[in-house]
Amino acid sequence: MTDLSRDYDGTRVVSDLTLSLIPGEVTCLLGPSGCGKSTTLRMAAGVEGPTHGTVHIDGELVADASFCIPPEKRSVGLMFQDFALFPHLDVTHNVAFGLSGSRQGKLDRVHELLDRVGLAGYGDKYPHQLSGGEQQRVALARALAPRPAIMLMDEPFSGLDNRLRDGIRDRTLEILREEGAAVLLVTHEPDEAMRMADKIALMRKGRIVQLGAPYTIYTKPVDRQAAAFFSDVN
Ligand code: ATP
Ligand code: MG
Repeated sequence: MTDLSRDYDGTRVVSDLTLSLIPGEVTCLLGPSGCGKSTTLRMAAGVEGPTHGTVHIDGELVADASFCIPPEKRSVGLMFQDFALFPHLDVTHNVAFGLSGSRQGKLDRVHELLDRVGLAGYGDKYPHQLSGGEQQRVALARALAPRPAIMLMDEPFSGLDNRLRDGIRDRTLEILREEGAAVLLVTHEPDEAMRMADKIALMRKGRIVQLGAPYTIYTKPVDRQAAAFFSDVN
């Protein structure tokens, strides 16, 4: 993403944002509510286009101010807070949804992913028969199934109760690393970013104010406001 800006009704909510994602790495977009994290992720996804700037995926231009290739036509996996599964499809068909190719090839990929997320044998179940944590893992498998170059996750763990969350975060991280996608993870929780990120992009008022390794950002915050934002990480 290069020099990305986005206006709503004349108000700039993302300003001149430049960020590169690296395969196998998790980049966290971290910042307070309303700073423009979800808007940035939606532009990376192709859900909406930029007012200015460009988005490239694997070297290919996928959006600028004049055109925007939609999510289903770019190599992106999406996971949002309400990771709605298709209620009328069983787990197998939910995970297979974005896949093309032979029936056997698709089934093999579904089984591989269900195994990896710890849900082998759940293929015949329907979403309403699963716990929140299990649904979240199906959503992860579904997003990863087509082997996206980029995985975009907007607060994917915020609907889970605290007891589950740490375990699911750790397991999700392992799976993302095994799959090797470039990950953009949006969160407003510093401790989630500290736990999951290879790199943190700290956002404020539509801009990235600091970009670096979690330890660096934690120990050398760019200013007092950044320090205060991290002060309650334990
Ligand atoms: P949160 O942590 O609360 O999810 P965020 O950092 O994801 O916040 P955004 O959702 O990107 O923030 O919103 C950034 C700003 O843009 C906010 O002021 C919001 O009100 C505004 N905004 C977002 N989407 C729209 C829209 N479709 N139309 C008008 N304004 C919008
Ligand atoms: Mg948001």
